[in-house]
Amino acid sequence: MVTAFIALGANLGDAVAALRQAVVSINALPLCAVKKTSSFYKTAPLQMLPGHAPGGDYINAVLGIETRLPAPILLQHLQQIEQAAGRERPYVNAPRTLDLDLLLYGDGRIDSPQLTVPHPRMWQRAFVLLPLAEIAPALVSQDALTAVQGQTVSIL
Ligand code: ADP
Ligand code: MG
Repeated sequence: MVTAFIALGANLGDAVAALRQAVVSINALPLCAVKKTSSFYKTAPLQMLPGHAPGGDYINAVLGIETRLPAPILLQHLQQIEQAAGRERPYVNAPRTLDLDLLLYGDGRIDSPQLTVPHPRMWQRAFVLLPLAEIAPALVSQDALTAVQGQTVSIL
């Protein structure tokens, strides 16, 4: 059994509904159980944060799951859930109905063309680190939070 953390994000359509449905869908995956769900966070579209797409307000959350799926299979399932939510990729950083990123997979380190874990950009993103710190405070140092403190992210 591995504890993994997944970042959820959306900024098109009913983003809150998309995130709620994603939590249900991830919990329904084989060999996966959602153990922790962060608050939903909102980032005003004024500032362009690294990795954030243009479009409406961004809603983000982080889930802690326990899984027996190998990480590449877990990623495939997450991509299927994105597709079911109507995800299209017309261009890099396009607005998205649902984005699911695998942040951490136990203490695993993966560097393949399809999958990099830990997620290479997570430490630059307050909208990932704040919800992650909420559900797994031991994983996010004060220094990491200080590094993103200029980014305004509020609990929905
Ligand atoms: P982004 O999330 O960076 O805005 P996408 O969701 O379109 O962009 O993902 C692009 C590619 O990133 C996917 O095809 C996937 O194979 C790859 N990828 C690499 N590492 C990860 C990870 N840790 N979590 C999710 N996708 C990843
Ligand atoms: Mg993604």
